[in-house]
Amino acid sequence: MRPAPRGSAKILVVGAGVGGISIARGLLRDGHDVTVFERRPALQAGGGAVTIWSNGETVLGQLGVVMAGAGQLLSTVRVATSTGRPLATLDVTAIVNRLGAPVRMVPRRVLLERLLEGFPAERVRCDAHVVGVVAEDAGVRVDFADGSCARGDLVIGADGLHSTVREIVGAPRAVPTGWCSWQGLGVLPDGVDRCVAAVIVGEQGNLGLWPAGRSEVQWWFDLPWSPDFVRPERPIDLIRASFTGWSAPVDRVLASLTDDDLAHSPYPHFRHPIPGPGRGPITLLGDAAHTMPPTLAQGTNQALLDTMVLCKALSGAHSDLSAALRWYENTRRRRVAAVSRVASLQVSHGEAVLRPAAMVSDRFMTWALASFLRASSHRRLAAEISSALAAATTCRQS
Ligand SMILES: Cc1cc2nc3c(=O)[nH]c(=O)nc-3n(C[C@H](O)[C@H](O)[C@H](O)COP(=O)(O)OP(=O)(O)OC[C@H]3O[C@@H](n4cnc5c(N)ncnc54)[C@H](O)[C@@H]3O)c2cc1C
Repeated sequence: MRPAPRGSAKILVVGAGVGGISIARGLLRDGHDVTVFERRPALQAGGGAVTIWSNGETVLGQLGVVMAGAGQLLSTVRVATSTGRPLATLDVTAIVNRLGAPVRMVPRRVLLERLLEGFPAERVRCDAHVVGVVAEDAGVRVDFADGSCARGDLVIGADGLHSTVREIVGAPRAVPTGWCSWQGLGVLPDGVDRCVAAVIVGEQGNLGLWPAGRSEVQWWFDLPWSPDFVRPERPIDLIRASFTGWSAPVDRVLASLTDDDLAHSPYPHFRHPIPGPGRGPITLLGDAAHTMPPTLAQGTNQALLDTMVLCKALSGAHSDLSAALRWYENTRRRRVAAVSRVASLQVSHGEAVLRPAAMVSDRFMTWALASFLRASSHRRLAAEISSALAAATTCRQS
């Protein structure tokens, strides 16, 4: 890590998920004094895999995270109906060529391992459950459930969907979208192309089989959900009844799953109203700021873009820290709101709604998705940051 520059801040990060570790990594790189507080007893990544699109991969590169060999690079996403009618074939290779960075499916545990490579372990305090954040005359105080506290110049709430920091700053709570995912990692069925992700949309739900590297596949089954949902005694029966017969690989995955594989599911989908600008030395990042449904597979990528913009905001261009946080929030709001809006469209839930999509050419669909990712990813800022970091590395080496 580089020595602390003039103007470095003491920064407290709440939550050690992908968002918390990423921002800590970036801020340590930039010479700030950072501590991450995690309520769990150890760092662990739950769930299955996530898709890292080109926009997220670019930020991982800026953070010095080595992703080579992690997960599975994708070349194609095929969307079809439950009766086997093709709806769209997205050319991921064309998106990669246009945006300049790969698209990969990575098990969460692998992503966290890569993020933690070279990360100073003493910068994370586990068993540290944050229950309060109080702005003080000179900085901010974080209170823990055990009665202890920590003080710093600013606090970043990266504490996920049901964020305590979000509640403390008074931002509106997450709202359920009416859908949930049953999901996890399983064994890739024989005969499935490792570079091709499949989405199948039916009348009452939809599913995905996305290869995630080695012999793993991320499977997900989306069904309607409401807060009064009662978990069936044998959820695998519900999933098999809803999805058997949709395709041969799906049937093979369904045959291999047991109730144990569904033990952590379902994951209800939520969406946060995107909050207005915050106040004082506190801000939000990742799911704490903008939980969105997994439809576009953008949640992790948006947390990484938050990281890029927040690091830039705190890199010294602003006269005071609160002003830097407001610049970050204002820079991110419009773009992340657009991504959240598109991710919340009901198009992915219902064959009938999607049928007209079959009339749109695959080329146009691919172009539209690439254009959307491009427009929502702060391309100019990303390019400036990447070249400044590359120049700094060359300088240090010579
Ligand atoms: C079903 C499903 C599928 C998804 N698929 C994708 C995908 O394909 N691609 C993609 O990009 N995204 C996907 N996402 C979204 C992605 O998981 C999240 O956007 C991403 O993990 C956000 O990370 P985060 O660090 O903000 O939050 P989290 O990963 O939730 O981390 C928050 C951390 O804060 C800790 N914490 C919480 N409260 C406190 C407290 N009070 N004190 C201290 N610590 C605390 C938690 O223990 C946790 O470690 C999916 C989400 C779901 C639900």
